[in-house]
Amino acid sequence: MKKSLFLCVLLGALFLVGAEKEGRGALCLTFDDYAGTNWLKADALFKKYNAHVTFFIVGKLTPDKVETMKKLQSAGHSIGLHSVHHRNASPLPGKWDMKKYFEQEIKPQLDLCRKNGIEVCGFAYPNNRRNEVTDQELFKHFDYLRAGLGKARKNIFYGAKDLKDKMVLGGGGIGAYYKSDVKVLKNLLKKAADTNTMIVFFSHNIYPKAKHVHMPTEMLEELLKYAAELNMRVIGINEIKTLLLR
Ligand SMILES: [Zn+2]
Repeated sequence: MKKSLFLCVLLGALFLVGAEKEGRGALCLTFDDYAGTNWLKADALFKKYNAHVTFFIVGKLTPDKVETMKKLQSAGHSIGLHSVHHRNASPLPGKWDMKKYFEQEIKPQLDLCRKNGIEVCGFAYPNNRRNEVTDQELFKHFDYLRAGLGKARKNIFYGAKDLKDKMVLGGGGIGAYYKSDVKVLKNLLKKAADTNTMIVFFSHNIYPKAKHVHMPTEMLEELLKYAAELNMRVIGINEIKTLLLR
């Protein structure tokens, strides 16, 4: 074994032991569509609690949007894609196949990200619509595919053995539309911390007293504060790989 590799493994192992002892779990908050100004505003809150999140961007990537994405990335957040026209990948429109879906809905976004040094390893399915075929096709381009919780609507706690190089991440919605109750959410965070597992959520815009499918700033702060009290890591999807060592 090369010396540097040995050192990495050793450091990784030490990290693992520490992490296991603390058993603090991880919170993966993701935000879909696009709310550049408000997302940038919310960054002060993320910084306050040492939190990184993921933003899944929809639509044509205008120069303004690219600048915002770069700012969010420099703040330590992960940037993912969410399609050009918010078209469902399952079922596909008319005679489309996944090749066309990639060309029309993903490639234009991916190309611009590469050109601008935006590191992308995740995609959030529009309307959380997916199937095995779409997963297999999209794993050619992404490591993490964010979807919903499916019919069961049960939150998923990802333990070390569940985390893979490439995987679908089932997230629960946060917002009035999803009937989110901060007490219930805090209990889920507690369970993730106690069991040293990762839990995933999705929301959209972030602003005070937000309704519908959006994240009220007040609720976000309460969750971030609680995660900090629990000593949970709040990570973007690009950081999931750091948990894979465990
Ligand atoms: Zn969306």
